[in-house]
Amino acid sequence: MIFDGGSGLRPLGKALVSGGRPVDLDLFYSHTHFDHIVGLPFFAPAYSAGTRIRVWAGHLKPVGLDIKSVLEKMMSAPLFPIPIDIFAARLDFRDFTAGETLTPHNGIKLITAPLNHPDGATGYRVEFGGKVVAYVTDTEHHAGHSDPEVLKLMHHADVAIYDCTYTDEEYARHRHWGHSTWEEGVRLAKEANVKQFVIFHHDPSHNDAMMDQIAADAAKLRPGTIVAHEGLLLQP
Ligand SMILES: [Zn+2]
Ligand SMILES: [Zn+2]
Repeated sequence: MIFDGGSGLRPLGKALVSGGRPVDLDLFYSHTHFDHIVGLPFFAPAYSAGTRIRVWAGHLKPVGLDIKSVLEKMMSAPLFPIPIDIFAARLDFRDFTAGETLTPHNGIKLITAPLNHPDGATGYRVEFGGKVVAYVTDTEHHAGHSDPEVLKLMHHADVAIYDCTYTDEEYARHRHWGHSTWEEGVRLAKEANVKQFVIFHHDPSHNDAMMDQIAADAAKLRPGTIVAHEGLLLQP
């Protein structure tokens, strides 16, 4: 199960094909803003005939759109030189409505919820083998009260990955941009009783020194909190 397909999809694809085994996976999009979809044309398994990819999205069906045509649009001239038909993999497109509970495979319960983001977005909660992972980005909080949809996804999660684009101080200048803050994330993690909180979706204008400062401040407020980075591997 892959959640979103930004630039990280390229190294992940390379690693998957290097295993030499046929790739069979589910790709769940939070939404289709560019930073979440640009990796797909560079995903090596998509060019291999043995690959099966089920592509899921929950924010388009409610507004009469579908994920296949949105990805086709991204991979069309003059935005991209080759069309999506070039993929040798078998792609199945599965649009749903955020809020539905999905069972992508036996034993996997995938709870979804609509998030507060321009053009919509879907948050996910994976329950499998007694463990819970919540993936909640891109979403804007409502200052002063916790988003019940987000709390539902994060409730007692072993790992919760959350939109921490801004600091509370920066947020004042970015209202209605559809993003949250690391401080709000830490508050939600506490309220939802999350085991490990992961700071995610960093503002590109934050440099390494700033990220180190956020990591130190967050660890003080909630020990065990980590700042995600490319290639980070979490193991139980
Ligand atoms: Zn977005
Ligand atoms: Zn984003």
